Amino acid sequence: MRDSNRTAQHITLEEPLLFERSQPGRVGYSLPPMGVPETPVEDLVPDHLRRDRVEGLPELSEFDVVRHFNRLAQWNYCIDRGIYPLGSCTMKYNPRLNEVIARWTAFTEAHPYLPDEFVQGCLAIQWHLECYLSEITGMDAVTLQPAAGAHGELTGLLLIRACLEDRGEKRTRILVPDSAHGTNPASAALGGFEVVHLKSDERGLLSPSTLRAAMSQDVAALMITNPNTLGLFEEDILEIADVLHEGGAFLYMDGANMNAFLGIARPGDMGVDVLHLNLHKTFSTPHGGGGPGSGPVCVREHLAPYLPVPRVAREGDRYRRIWDSPKSIGRVKAFEGHFGVHVRALAYILSLGRDHLRDIAVHAVLNANYLMARLKPYYHLPYDRRVMHEVVFNDRRQNPTGVTTMDIAKRLIDYGLHPPTVYFPLIVPGALMIEPTETESLEELDRFVEAMTQIAREAAEQPEVLRSAPQRGAFRRFDEVEAARHPILRWSPQGFPPAWKRVSRGSEDVPIRDEK
Ligand SMILES: *Cc1c(COP(=O)(O)O)cnc(C)c1O
Repeated sequence: MRDSNRTAQHITLEEPLLFERSQPGRVGYSLPPMGVPETPVEDLVPDHLRRDRVEGLPELSEFDVVRHFNRLAQWNYCIDRGIYPLGSCTMKYNPRLNEVIARWTAFTEAHPYLPDEFVQGCLAIQWHLECYLSEITGMDAVTLQPAAGAHGELTGLLLIRACLEDRGEKRTRILVPDSAHGTNPASAALGGFEVVHLKSDERGLLSPSTLRAAMSQDVAALMITNPNTLGLFEEDILEIADVLHEGGAFLYMDGANMNAFLGIARPGDMGVDVLHLNLHKTFSTPHGGGGPGSGPVCVREHLAPYLPVPRVAREGDRYRRIWDSPKSIGRVKAFEGHFGVHVRALAYILSLGRDHLRDIAVHAVLNANYLMARLKPYYHLPYDRRVMHEVVFNDRRQNPTGVTTMDIAKRLIDYGLHPPTVYFPLIVPGALMIEPTETESLEELDRFVEAMTQIAREAAEQPEVLRSAPQRGAFRRFDEVEAARHPILRWSPQGFPPAWKRVSRGSEDVPIRDEK
């Protein structure tokens, strides 16, 4: 692992804040003398809007600022440096081609208020994307408006509610299995429904008998994440759909993990009534740092009348936005959603084509199962079944020497690798949720396996090494509870609060807070 340790090393830098580097009078620009008479600021800005001075604004040269941010960027572990095995994230590497296309000025300078005749190309992109997503999911109609996955969930639930109201039915409950993504119950609650949790069975799946027992006249829908957060395909999905439909309820599928069976199976053929996709997870858009994303909602015919407006329609070879839709739930997002994400998704779909879209799923599933097979001798696998796009281990085998999932995750940093998702899903105590994705090479997967097996050996032979990891990162361990409970988000000219120590760096073993 000599190689990966070297990678970790150059993130060990000492980097003060810009505020601490500030030198009075230093500036980042130099302007030529003015060619027009100077107007005093008092004449331009009224008294009550003017401040005498701005407290604590750092004064730096351009070079100071550029170097500062470049150094910080090097601290960041990113997909361009190596494998990013976070589970529940799907696609992480996004082809540069799609980025280039999304940046064309024809797209970036189109204003959403332009009349339809001036944005025919943009509307064509949305119309075609909707068609491809319908085809891929086997659903009848699509809205591209929602801003991300959870927003798509809320939109989907509002469609269900509108349809129920239209039918004069009052159904108040949403069933959510314990293997669902955490946003599912949150969206159901936000949509005004009562959330009822269902336990998954010993297979890690929702069994039709559990669902039958929970059915009643009050159930509006089941929200099922498929594949679920254990990385398992819900094998009884057809029967589940039947149970719901017989009981007058809807089947909502969380399709954020669509890269697991894209091009191979279609939710529309499984009896799903409504699902959302995460374009930023399955169809190319970088999704670190919180956005922008896009969470299209795909529905069967009976829910189509309630979709948000405007819809895009094609008439002959012209495209037009349709506002007239009496049963629509209205807008869920300003304008037409995150258009740049739509461009990337269409570029991705078209560049791969029918045959190679399928390869996404084939490779995602193959890579996850490869990691499962290679790591199974070293880590406990609570649900030992063929997985889809991700695999969930835990720390049960390491626990006897006092080593936990957090120690394993932190130790990976010493090996120059990003840790997987930890302690999620909640139904697996000490979960290590690993998702390699479709884009990693065999060599990179092996590098990850080598680090993980080495760590398993260390856990048995030198547990103290793991408990004090990371040794080689820019920082040692944070007091994460303290950081979450009392975040310090603003620097003040008086400096940091006295209890706050910044020196938990490199090989010095100093906690981030020196007193509680
Ligand atoms: C990421 C994810 C979500 C939430 O999507 P956001 O775009 O983050 O709102 C929902 N469900 C699943 C299965 C996910 O992986």
